[in-house]
Amino acid sequence: MNPLSDRINRLSESETLAMARKSRELKALGHNVINLSLGEPDFFTPGNIKEAGKSAIDNNHSFYTPVNGYLELRQAICEKLSRDNKLEYTPEQIVVSTGAKQSIANAVLCLVNPGEEVIVPSPFWVSYREIVKMAEGVEVTIQAGIENDFKITADQLEAAITPKTKLFMFSSPCNPTGSVYSREELQQLAGVFARHPHVYILADEIYEHINFSGAHESIAQFEEVRDQVIIINGVSKGFAMTGWRLGYMAASLEIAKACNKLQGQITSGTCSIAQMAGVEAMKTDPATTRPMLDKFRERRDLVLRLMKDIPGIKTNEPQGAFYVFANVKEFFGKSDGTTRVENAPDLCMYLLNKVFVAMVPGDAFGDPDCVRLSYATSNDLLEEAISRIRRALEELK
Ligand code: PMP
Ligand code: GLU
Repeated sequence: MNPLSDRINRLSESETLAMARKSRELKALGHNVINLSLGEPDFFTPGNIKEAGKSAIDNNHSFYTPVNGYLELRQAICEKLSRDNKLEYTPEQIVVSTGAKQSIANAVLCLVNPGEEVIVPSPFWVSYREIVKMAEGVEVTIQAGIENDFKITADQLEAAITPKTKLFMFSSPCNPTGSVYSREELQQLAGVFARHPHVYILADEIYEHINFSGAHESIAQFEEVRDQVIIINGVSKGFAMTGWRLGYMAASLEIAKACNKLQGQITSGTCSIAQMAGVEAMKTDPATTRPMLDKFRERRDLVLRLMKDIPGIKTNEPQGAFYVFANVKEFFGKSDGTTRVENAPDLCMYLLNKVFVAMVPGDAFGDPDCVRLSYATSNDLLEEAISRIRRALEELK
């Protein structure tokens, strides 16, 4: 008999983490695996931020922290929001968490009652669907195709909203598509939300600093919807700090207080050392991370150029984050004589087992015709990986 709760039985393993695990297992067996599955910068945390972490240890930042984070950090986050996004928040509206992932879970669990609808434009980031399931919400997807750069329109949004809609959640720059909503597009969406004040908007801005299309635009800039918006952000991507586990939300006081209460019963305040390093990250001029951005752009261009030469693969032109979400439908129903590929998970396993390149099937992101490739690795490895992919795909007849 299965002793586990229905809640956990309903939940799927994170597909991004699962593919990363499989590729680690193959690597441990001695295979030369190129892992393009997990989305994390391959850069080191900037030196000034590491120093702040070290001095936090030396200065005995070793005690429990306030549940919503050190005041100094929340103030620094408010200053960052004002400096970079022209948004004014007070420290009471900020909740610091163990990664943006926890901030998202906090918000969804605090807002969504069982049976309430959560609108998720698809493709979406893997964990959105599972977090909505945990809250027993009803996921309502709006499909955005490659022909529209994987972005939804205001009309599609209007049509999806019902009296039961509680929350809308999206990322821009988007994981997995790299799509970036322009100011005008966000304004149109905000116009719809303004007509439906019962709908909250979770704006996941974790890729804010990895944007090739210009300045980051937040939907919170539109006054008419400001109180409906929950901004999610963190240091994992922009400051190459995935392992430090530090994220935050900025929201209305009511939501921030609720998340503080929830977090106080689950994790308490996040790591003191990471928080002090986070103060330094918030104070760091984002322009200093420009070399990382330039590298990501160069890699994007390289990957797109190499992938264009593979017949059967279709891509958009990602404007941010560090992923290419490629349509690979053309290969379904084909075989290399030994392995038959019926769908994206089959294709990922085929590529992993045959040429040791790990990617994530699009199913987990809401588009089963696609696979996600993370290009957060060196040019040499990207070239090698794509040449292996090309070879393996050529064998599918
Ligand atoms: N949102 C998106 C869209 C992401 O890609 C990630 C990356 N894991 C997260 C949230 C969570 O980030 P964190 O490492 O801060 O938990
Ligand atoms: N956000 C990254 C990804 O999508 C990290 C993995 C995760 O947190 O699930 O690959």
